[in-house]
Amino acid sequence: MSEEKRGHVFDRRDALSLFTGVGGLALGAEPAFARATKLARRPEDEGFMRLALEEAAKGDFPFGAVIAREGKVVATGHNLGKTSNDPTAHGEIVAIRRFVAEHPAQELHGATLYTSGEPCPMCMSAIVWCGIGRVVYAASIEQLSTRIGQIMLTSRTVAQHAPFHSVAITGGVLAQEALALFDKK
Ligand SMILES: [Zn+2]
Repeated sequence: MSEEKRGHVFDRRDALSLFTGVGGLALGAEPAFARATKLARRPEDEGFMRLALEEAAKGDFPFGAVIAREGKVVATGHNLGKTSNDPTAHGEIVAIRRFVAEHPAQELHGATLYTSGEPCPMCMSAIVWCGIGRVVYAASIEQLSTRIGQIMLTSRTVAQHAPFHSVAITGGVLAQEALALFDKK
């Protein structure tokens, strides 16, 4: 079976697990894929997302992120693509770089990254490489693509192709507020 076909089957299975309210994925014999569980919102998510949205409002493009650990914000970042002449300076990447400038990278393993936009494939790959355990996003890539160019691969797809790391993903927290930031620009 081709990778593409397997991915399709996997997505269908995932959709089914959501439909039946079962969290997580039954992987069985799918060693090429990692667990990328869809996790329900937690009470603290909205507060941290508001901080990510405040960051987004400061960005060259309205994208912002905060990294939280043990209930506290440990790094923030917003898009600096134009300011720093660096198209890779997405909010998530900026937050990660700020964190590792001051803390052992190992400490990202217990962290949650909140981001106003679903991580693009570059940022999601960075999240996986850093071993970040949970990602919470506001607007999805599909929603963002109605406002700004996006690489149409979901964060979930990227995570599922990294067999060495498991990441929990929660989407849709304050999505409309994140999208509204594009109207203010
Ligand atoms: Zn990105």
